[in-house]
Amino acid sequence: MISTPPNRVAIIGAGLAGLTLAISLHRQGISCRIYELREPSKATSGALMLSPNALRVLDTLGLYERLHPQGYNFETIDFKNHEQITTDKYYLGHEKLYGYKALRVYRQVLLTELRNEVKNLQIPVVYGVKFSHILSEDQDGVNFAFTDGTRASADILVGADGIHSTVRKSIAPGVVPKYSGMVAITCALQRNTLEYPSNICAKDYPMPVAIHGKNGAFVMAPQNVDGSEVLAGTQRAWPEQDRAGWDALLADREGLLELFRQGYEDWPTIVRSALDNVPLDTLAIWPYYVVPKLEQWFTPNKRVIILGDAAHAIPPTAGQGASQGFEDAFTLAALLPRITAKLPLDKALTEWKDMRQQRIDKVIKLTLQLNNARLPQAEREKLAASGAPVWESGDHGELAWLYNADVEKEVLAYVKAETKSPRTCPVEWLQSKISPSANPDKVQP
Ligand SMILES: Cc1cc2nc3c(=O)[nH]c(=O)nc-3n(C[C@H](O)[C@H](O)[C@H](O)COP(=O)(O)OP(=O)(O)OC[C@H]3O[C@@H](n4cnc5c(N)ncnc54)[C@H](O)[C@@H]3O)c2cc1C
Repeated sequence: MISTPPNRVAIIGAGLAGLTLAISLHRQGISCRIYELREPSKATSGALMLSPNALRVLDTLGLYERLHPQGYNFETIDFKNHEQITTDKYYLGHEKLYGYKALRVYRQVLLTELRNEVKNLQIPVVYGVKFSHILSEDQDGVNFAFTDGTRASADILVGADGIHSTVRKSIAPGVVPKYSGMVAITCALQRNTLEYPSNICAKDYPMPVAIHGKNGAFVMAPQNVDGSEVLAGTQRAWPEQDRAGWDALLADREGLLELFRQGYEDWPTIVRSALDNVPLDTLAIWPYYVVPKLEQWFTPNKRVIILGDAAHAIPPTAGQGASQGFEDAFTLAALLPRITAKLPLDKALTEWKDMRQQRIDKVIKLTLQLNNARLPQAEREKLAASGAPVWESGDHGELAWLYNADVEKEVLAYVKAETKSPRTCPVEWLQSKISPSANPDKVQP
């Protein structure tokens, strides 16, 4: 039974979850060291959408104030039909309801701010090393190896090494990411190249927007500070490829553009104008892979843990992939310094994983409802007839469970409940009998 907090944590992966874990552990007074495969000089492309639950974590860690001026701040995405009528508004953030607007920010900006903070806090990061396998794990700690033959040790090793996690092999051998059958095709274009419906002037056209038509949904989302650059994309059913196959699909720019433009005549004017103005060099693909639900997120000896995409890569529609990784990291960091004989590591981790999995399950359910709303018209009609869940907004407070959750508070409440001394109960009970009021003046003789 492990009944003392770890002193040294090793984190595999300096991605979004790994860096957030390091900063959160530092806040809790636990030392850590990060090991990352890629050199920091390697640039990352694309932007991410962050909702209030992610922004609350980043705010607590002192990063939100630096981040929000560097991205596009907004509240809703409009769902429109082919006739350009807004059929629903989905809240991705809301200052009044959920504390924060949503933020769309380049991944590189987010990584840079997280790395800067890690540097400020003097947390060591070893770049250019690839974790290979666990050598041994027992009551005293964990020893592990890198592919270059070097070795290291720690009290606990956390795998934040992404969807194709190597650390996961020690916890769930044989589990591999599953392809969902869908690939997103996207490009980044200038907003002023779009042709708007004749009755709406460009500045009044809502962005982000998801236009639902015969072909499914076409999404456009601004991604730089002034909103002049827009990510435009749609998804297609496509057979699974190996790595070389996906690379070949991406490399064949003209072929990919043709696939992107399939069903061109069935889209409204604004989508057609996007498809007419695709900058070929910005074309990208994103095959949707998910990690099947895992029995455990840690080894039987509890010295090796996974989180973020390594534990639960989820479909993208609710924009919660990174956000859930932030929450994992933040809550694990809150739990680890509070390990005691009353709350040993195995019990604490089991509860943590259950709390996290319940939230992930709810996000997956929400994602399914949103996915169903994005299907091609004929499939949507079939689904509606079968009673399958399709997202429809209610009073706009219905996402409070997701955006307003204080996940750290929930962990601390659990710790408090578990570590309450059994002896304090009878004493409290006795005191309440002697003194019916908290006011000492009123203590009965
Ligand atoms: C195109 C795209 C758009 C997305 N948009 C959104 C969005 O809008 N909102 C959102 O919330 N989510 C979004 N996501 C999902 C989000 O990016 C992921 O959920 C998130 O990055 C997961 O973070 P992570 O730290 O768990 O993994 P990663 O970010 O993948 O980081 C893993 C890190 O581990 C390192 N690593 C891997 N193997 C090893 C090894 N053996 N040794 C050492 N280091 C290793 C990697 O180099 C990497 O730095 C998007 C994803 C994609 C692909």
